Amino acid sequence: MVSKDKNVHGRRSFLRGAAGALGVGLWSDQVLEALPQNVNTNSKPSDLRITDLRVLVLARAPMTSPIIRIDTNQGIYGLGEVRDGASKNYALMLKSRIMGENPCNVDKVFRKIKQFGGHSRQAGGVCGVEMALWDLAGKAYNVPVHQMLGGKFRDKIRCYCDTPQVRDPKAFGLRMKERREQGFTWLKMDLGVDLVAQIPGTVTMPLGTNLAYGNNTQHMFTGMEITDKGIELLCNYVALVREGAGMDVPISADHFGHIGVNSCIRLGKALTKYNLSWLEDMIPWQYPELLKKIADSVDIPLATGEDIYLKESFIELCRSHAVDIIQPDLATSGGILETKKIGDAAQEFGVPMALHMAGTPIAAMASVHCAAATENFLVMENHSVDIPWWSDLVEGVEKPILNKGFITVPDKPGLGITLNEAVVKQHLGEPGYFEPTPDWTRDRSNDRLWS
Ligand SMILES: [Mg+2]
Repeated sequence: MVSKDKNVHGRRSFLRGAAGALGVGLWSDQVLEALPQNVNTNSKPSDLRITDLRVLVLARAPMTSPIIRIDTNQGIYGLGEVRDGASKNYALMLKSRIMGENPCNVDKVFRKIKQFGGHSRQAGGVCGVEMALWDLAGKAYNVPVHQMLGGKFRDKIRCYCDTPQVRDPKAFGLRMKERREQGFTWLKMDLGVDLVAQIPGTVTMPLGTNLAYGNNTQHMFTGMEITDKGIELLCNYVALVREGAGMDVPISADHFGHIGVNSCIRLGKALTKYNLSWLEDMIPWQYPELLKKIADSVDIPLATGEDIYLKESFIELCRSHAVDIIQPDLATSGGILETKKIGDAAQEFGVPMALHMAGTPIAAMASVHCAAATENFLVMENHSVDIPWWSDLVEGVEKPILNKGFITVPDKPGLGITLNEAVVKQHLGEPGYFEPTPDWTRDRSNDRLWS
C-alpha cells in the first residue's frame, strides 16, 4: 500500500509541475522528455492489467457493505462497493474472470461479468467491480469519472435523506422541519400501515396472521387491505407532517406495507391533496401492468427501481409509463455506465431518474458521478446524515460529504476518493483489511451464454 501511494503521489506532483509549465505556455525540453517517461511508470493505460481483487466489510455505514479494491500491475488501484446487505462473495467470485483484463476497458469487462449479476443484492459484485474499473480508468487517464461519461450537467447533487419513522406525527413533522433547516430541499418519509395497524379496524388481514406475515409475501398475495379508517388515520398523519415540514417542499413516501393493489389505489387517491412527490414501491416492480393500474388511478407520481438489475426492465417500465419516476440503485442496476444508460433511456419517454443509495461514501461518490452526467437526474438518497463518522471513511473530498442537502461533484481522477484506513478499521463488520484472496484467483468454468 505504502509503495503504491508513493507512486501515485510522485506522478501527481509531476503532473502538477507539468500543468504549471503549461500555465505559462511553455514546455521545457526537460518536461517534454519527462512526459512519456512518467506516463510509462504509473499510467500506461494500454498496458494496465488487473492483478488482484480484495475485500473488506464495513458495518453500520449505514448498512453492512463489502468494499472491494482492484489492484493492477502499475500500482494504481480502484475502489468499489458491493450493494448494502449483499455477500462479499458476489464480488470475489468475479476475481477469476477479471484477472489479467485491462480495467480501462470498462464496458468490455462489464459485459463479460454481467451474467453473474441478478436483481437486488445479487448484482452487488458486478456493480462493485464496475465502479472500481471506472475508478481505475479515471486514475490511469487522470480524469474524473463524470468526464469519461460525457461531462457534467451540474456541479452539486441534490440529496434527500431518510428520517427514521416516529409514530407521533407532530414529532415527525418537527424532525422534517429540522431537515429543512439543515439545508435539505427534498424530504422523504415512511408511511406504512404499521403506523396505524395497532388501532382496531384499520387493516383487515386473514385472521391469525399479522404484519410480519406480509414481510416475505408479495403484496398481492397477503390478503391484507386497508380500511377507510386506516386511510383516514394515515392521511391525518401526513397532514400533521405537512404542517411541520411545510407544503412547499417535496416529500416522497415509501414502505406502505404489503397491502393489495386496490388498497394502494384507495390510499393513493386519499393522499392526493398532500401533494407528495412520489409513492415508492407500492407493489413489487415485477408487475408493471399492476403498477400501471395504480399509476393510472392515482394523481401522485409512482416510483420504483431500487431492486432492478440492468436497463431492459427500466426501459419497459418507462415505455409503458407504469411508473412516473425510476429510481435505480447503481449498486444493483449495473453500475455507473449502465445507470447513465438507464437515465438516458428514461429521458426519451419523459421519465426522470432519482437515485436510490444506502451505501458508504464509495457507492455515494459513484452515484454522484453518474448523477452529474445524466440530464434527467432528479434527486439522490442518503441514509447517513446521522452517522458522524460516515464522511471520515474517505479522504480527498469536501467534508462533510453531504453538506446542506447537496454533495459537490469531485474533480479528482476516478471516483476522487481514497480510504481513511484508520477510520475504516474502526468500523469493520468482520476481521480483515483487504486480506489476500488466493482461493478466488482461478476457477474453471465455461461461461459462454451461446453455442
Ligand atoms: Mg425504497
